[in-house]
Amino acid sequence: MLPAHPSTEQPTGLIFDIQAHSVHDGPGTRTTVFLNGCPFSCEWCCNPEGLHRRPVVMHREQRCVHCGGCARACPRGAISLGADGLETFDRSLCADCATYDCVSACYHEGNVLSGKRYTVDQLMDIFRRDRQFWGRGGGVTFSGGEPLLQRDFMLPLLRRCREARIHTCVETTACLPTDYFMEAAALLDFLFIDIKNMDPVAHRARTRADNAQTLRNVKTLGASDLDCFVVIRIPVIPGWNDGEENIRKTARFVRECGLEVINLLPFHRLSESKWRQVGEPYAFADLPGLSREELAPHAQWVREEGITCYTGWETPF
Ligand code: SF4
Ligand code: SF4
Repeated sequence: MLPAHPSTEQPTGLIFDIQAHSVHDGPGTRTTVFLNGCPFSCEWCCNPEGLHRRPVVMHREQRCVHCGGCARACPRGAISLGADGLETFDRSLCADCATYDCVSACYHEGNVLSGKRYTVDQLMDIFRRDRQFWGRGGGVTFSGGEPLLQRDFMLPLLRRCREARIHTCVETTACLPTDYFMEAAALLDFLFIDIKNMDPVAHRARTRADNAQTLRNVKTLGASDLDCFVVIRIPVIPGWNDGEENIRKTARFVRECGLEVINLLPFHRLSESKWRQVGEPYAFADLPGLSREELAPHAQWVREEGITCYTGWETPF
């Protein structure tokens, strides 16, 4: 489906997925909204289709019947059919494509777009519909990508949620200008903030971005009197950030910021097929996933630094 063009003048947000009945993205049962765009490019990202601030065509091989319709429809010749009948995308030709003819030409959902525009009103309608399923303690979670990147959309949306007394949670890199980050945090009830690696050089090597702004904002948030619950998440990547020194250093930093909870997320390879669908190489094809049990020492190091630690999805939130 092509990105919608809502007729109102309201700001719109580019969103690549909305999941109802979500139970791992904050307290209770929630509706999770995934927004496009991210200041990082983590090589293990679970949602590579959301890394860019534009929709990306996902080619789903299992749906494709190799009819060649998309190759004929593309005005730029970005798709070619090989002798084996398989399609090859030259994604370098797609960067500023505005028509996405390869998507509308496909009747088999072999090509789908990872992004559609919504107004604040449209999302509020979805939240009103889902609210009956949240029960006590549930609400809305904004994820991504970096959900706070689309500032002109997110601030009015968060204000509307607050007016409607909807519990709001965000899964954020916190790599945002501090004034804006704090303005958004004041409208949120719950924040998951990733601290991926305390070493700036290592951080840049696998995320293509600096960690300084994230750390600055965590410090500012910890020193503030905002009434929101903060959980620091560490996606534990074997051989990159799983050493005792980094884990303890992160826990000490969290403690010094006046925060209390860390959630360790074990590395897994569930996103591997998505990386194929967006036509990007996956860096961890040979790396086995981590079990919760394998993170027991890491959890122990965190606790020894005086921080409450949860592993994987076994959390009270
Ligand atoms: S139009 Fe759809 S089914 Fe046909 S080759 Fe393209 S992706 Fe495959
Ligand atoms: S996104 Fe645009 S340029 Fe790329 S294959 Fe589809 S129609 Fe062609």
